[in-house]
Amino acid sequence: MSMGEDPAEEWRDVSGWAGTCHARCKVIRCQGVEESRILLREDGPWLPRGGGCSYGDAAILDQGRLLQLKPPSGDPILSAAATPTDLQSPSVSVSAAVTLRQLLPLLARQGLTLPVVPGVLDATVGGMLAADVHGKNHLSRGSIRDVTVALQLLLPSGEVIDCDRDREPEIFRGTIGGMGLTGVILEARLAVIPLLADRVEVQVLATKNLQESLAQLDRLAASEEHVAAWIDPTARGSEFGRGIVVGGTVVATDRVVRSNRSSWDLPRGHRFPAGFSWALSPIGIRCHNAVRHALARIGRRQRSWELERLLFPLERWRDWKKIYQPDGFHQHQSLIPEDRCSGTIRELLELSNRARCPSTLVVIKKMRKGAGGLSFGAEGMTLSMDFKATAGVKEILHHCDSRVADVGGRVYLAKDSTLTPELLRRMYPQVDQFLSLRNRIDPDRKLNSDLSRRLEI
Ligand SMILES: Cc1cc2nc3c(=O)[nH]c(=O)nc-3n(C[C@H](O)[C@H](O)[C@H](O)COP(=O)(O)OP(=O)(O)OC[C@H]3O[C@@H](n4cnc5c(N)ncnc54)[C@H](O)[C@@H]3O)c2cc1C
Repeated sequence: MSMGEDPAEEWRDVSGWAGTCHARCKVIRCQGVEESRILLREDGPWLPRGGGCSYGDAAILDQGRLLQLKPPSGDPILSAAATPTDLQSPSVSVSAAVTLRQLLPLLARQGLTLPVVPGVLDATVGGMLAADVHGKNHLSRGSIRDVTVALQLLLPSGEVIDCDRDREPEIFRGTIGGMGLTGVILEARLAVIPLLADRVEVQVLATKNLQESLAQLDRLAASEEHVAAWIDPTARGSEFGRGIVVGGTVVATDRVVRSNRSSWDLPRGHRFPAGFSWALSPIGIRCHNAVRHALARIGRRQRSWELERLLFPLERWRDWKKIYQPDGFHQHQSLIPEDRCSGTIRELLELSNRARCPSTLVVIKKMRKGAGGLSFGAEGMTLSMDFKATAGVKEILHHCDSRVADVGGRVYLAKDSTLTPELLRRMYPQVDQFLSLRNRIDPDRKLNSDLSRRLEI
């Protein structure tokens, strides 16, 4: 038995968040630099794992050990050293094990927040950095890379290094978006911004077809910070691609300023009603989408929402993914370059309609130029489509993967489970640079994941 190993912890089935990728792994929880370093000296293969919110096989490793950091013991999670020091550009140092659900309320107590957050609260700082996550404000703020000042990293060799844009810049660059394959991120220094309000004025625009959805997305993105379009995947004919575009910007109001509150009460979400799996039948999906669109059409355009409703809409339901049990689901999230958006998004939506069970959720967001490497962000629009895992869905996902590669786009690795090594190389031309970094710092491939094995990275 190795250090940090819970005797009760046996090899067990661990799955990706969407429940479609499974592996036999041993999860080993450990605390602090020393414990992690000693562990990593032992036989691998190893993979760092955070909150396990990546959909596919990025955070699992068959016949391998998953190293899961425990947050520092005791409260507060932010140590004294984490208090913002430089008032010009404040930043905080946080353990990579901390989840957004833990971190955001602590920052809120100081009147602060993170400029970039993904739509899930159980993601850890380590996992967010490894996937170089984005929010609904990529256009204005970029990805988490853009707000990361420095990292402390445990290399596969057991050495602990501090890296940033000047110190070990290649490792810093490759680790953000490096899907856990360059080492274990132990700590990160992240830029923070003032948390201005706990409510936000949002615009909710019901659109008639795809052309109008994309046009309104463009229009709102020019004036609001957090913007996303939900598309009704079941609408046909002249209403194909209709949806609801939502955008809002957090501005200080004199009504409630969050910094005056003791914390940010993040939602635990309502329990999803049992027996709702009928809602995933083609007719159920059609009804749900029709009602949702109709409500947006007749509702007010200008609304006041709690900030969390805009940033984390899926957190309103605690266990919504249970609806996909027992086989789970897939999400295909792709980035389509700016000049190919309209035609390709139409084509991918049409492809998805060929699934025996149509896509259950479709979301489009805008992105700006990204950093390259294995990072997902690039100029264009990102299209996410959820599918219940049914016979034939993988074939459709493969078609989508190829079409995305053909137009010069890419698939998000944190959601992927179907890409091939050949397509990865077309989508991420800088993969060879990443491999040379891996060869330099992990020649024996102590770190691996099912994703890295599948994609040969
Ligand atoms: C409902 C939902 C909504 C989401 N919305 C968004 C979104 O809006 N934008 C977006 O970008 N993503 C989104 N995601 C994806 C999610 O943000 C990423 O998968 C993120 O990586 C999850 O973090 P985690 O801690 O759960 O990491 P895990 O899933 O556990 O791991 C992800 C990767 O990070 C690596 N890793 C984890 N911890 C460390 C560490 N300490 N050091 C080094 N590597 C590490 C793992 O090896 C793995 O490769 C969403 C996911 C869900 C479930």
